[in-house]
Amino acid sequence: MKTTPCRDTAGPDLAAFTEFCRRQGIKPTRQRIEIYRELRAREDHPSAEIIYGQVKKRLPAISLDTVYRTLRLFEQQGIISRVSAPGESMRFDGNLQHHHHFICTECGSVRDFYSDAFDSLTAPEQVVEFGDIRSVHVEVRGVCHDCRNKTGEKPPPSP
Ligand SMILES: [Zn+2]
Ligand SMILES: [Zn+2]
Repeated sequence: MKTTPCRDTAGPDLAAFTEFCRRQGIKPTRQRIEIYRELRAREDHPSAEIIYGQVKKRLPAISLDTVYRTLRLFEQQGIISRVSAPGESMRFDGNLQHHHHFICTECGSVRDFYSDAFDSLTAPEQVVEFGDIRSVHVEVRGVCHDCRNKTGEKPPPSP
């Protein structure tokens, strides 16, 4: 079972991040700090390409490959997570608080929400047979208000 590092709620806490890196034996390089900061500053669960585009403005020498590798490293260390959302590219989540997702099936937008009721859910017996459980997340799927407004009051198209 992994411990949850730097459980802060007040946005990007770079001091906690660099401290965490040192403890884990990861060098807190400028590139890593900028990638982490960019991800933590956003709530839209961006793709690696979007983070790359933003970080490149501050660090023009950075490559997309570095961004990918860094995000994967952060994910392995449990300081960010990956989001499965509709669409081709992987999306990343820098919100360290235990939370759940509303995912729009039309535009793929991912919104965070918090629920004590969902937090206290336990996985059923059947899941234990598949493997060790680290955490339980609830994913609510629907059509966001923006997409709903664009399509009028029509129900979502059936596949
Ligand atoms: Zn939408
Ligand atoms: Zn999230």
